[in-house]
Amino acid sequence: MTTDGNVPYLLTPGPLTTSAATKQAMLRDWGSRDKDFIALTAEIRERLVSIAGVADSHTVVPVQGSGTFAVEATLGTLVPRDGKVLVLVNGAYGRRMLTILERLGRAATSVETAEDVPIDPAVVDAVLAGDPAITHVAAVQCETTSGILNPMGEIAAVVAVQGRRLIIDAMSAFGALPTETTDYDALVASSNKCLEGVPGLAFAILRREVLSASADNAPSLSLDLHDQWRGFEANGQWRFTPPTHVTAAFAAALRDHAAEGGVDGRGARYRENCRILIDGMRAMGFEPLLSTALQAPIIVTFKMPADDKFDFETFYDRLAARGFVIYPGKLTEAASFRIGCIGHLGSDEMHGAVGAARDVLKEMGVTSGAPA
Ligand SMILES: *Cc1c(COP(=O)(O)O)cnc(C)c1O
Repeated sequence: MTTDGNVPYLLTPGPLTTSAATKQAMLRDWGSRDKDFIALTAEIRERLVSIAGVADSHTVVPVQGSGTFAVEATLGTLVPRDGKVLVLVNGAYGRRMLTILERLGRAATSVETAEDVPIDPAVVDAVLAGDPAITHVAAVQCETTSGILNPMGEIAAVVAVQGRRLIIDAMSAFGALPTETTDYDALVASSNKCLEGVPGLAFAILRREVLSASADNAPSLSLDLHDQWRGFEANGQWRFTPPTHVTAAFAAALRDHAAEGGVDGRGARYRENCRILIDGMRAMGFEPLLSTALQAPIIVTFKMPADDKFDFETFYDRLAARGFVIYPGKLTEAASFRIGCIGHLGSDEMHGAVGAARDVLKEMGVTSGAPA
């Protein structure tokens, strides 16, 4: 993939490195109400629902903005004023959903575990059994804070048995990891993660009968997914100015995704990227925060090395100077840094990143990346 000339390579959880074809697709202008753009919008909606495998029961509502816009729009549209949401939290994105619900004035409670511990479906079961006021459960599939994978299939099963509605933030998983269930009212993701589009568009995959019963729930006009959906159904058009170039790039990225073999093909490449990264970093003494069983092949959190000569700012700057941009800060409570394995990158780039890290360590005089 090196031939794409994508330097700098973004080893971050999005925005991420995109293909030449995806960037190329932005080199024309589109009339937002022109039939060509209407067809492009229909194409992305169809491709997304087909990736999810829920074309019979669900519909896709794209929304302008980053992933959080779609999470906020989904919670605001689907949770009625007298609803109550149980949010499953083991990182920043679960916590963000609690903040959104507070702003929306919707009742919420949470089940929380440490950032390196997956959500326990048995605990969810017990909390739901004890609180009949809870109408919805909101869960994060891959908590990008640490890169941990939550057991979405088991969580969905518990929510179904307890007769509540499920909302999944699959932002950093959709397109590369199977969702493990189709039994959800909403799955939310965005253009610029595993689907490898450019940022500016997010979407929710919504159960049609639930969405059609959600008129007048949303406290926001621009983030009302019921209204947005009615617009698409009426004439195929976005209600308000769409991100036309982003949409065109997303269509190109989705064609790449299909050509790579869909979720299986994309997931296989990311798993290999992740393996090269972890093996290479381990060989220098670095240690991932998570055990292999909990690690999603999306982003890897490494514990901060103990060596006094290791300075993260220097490490970051010198990797960037070599064309490899990693994540410039930590979200976890543990002293750590993160390197992504998603985006239009393959084994050449991952070996390149590991080699660059080795060179930078040598320059800094660090003999081992081992943590304390
Ligand atoms: C990226 C991400 C989001 C959305 O973040 P934005 O910065 O708004 O795009 C939400 N949830 C998860 C799990 C994510 O990885």
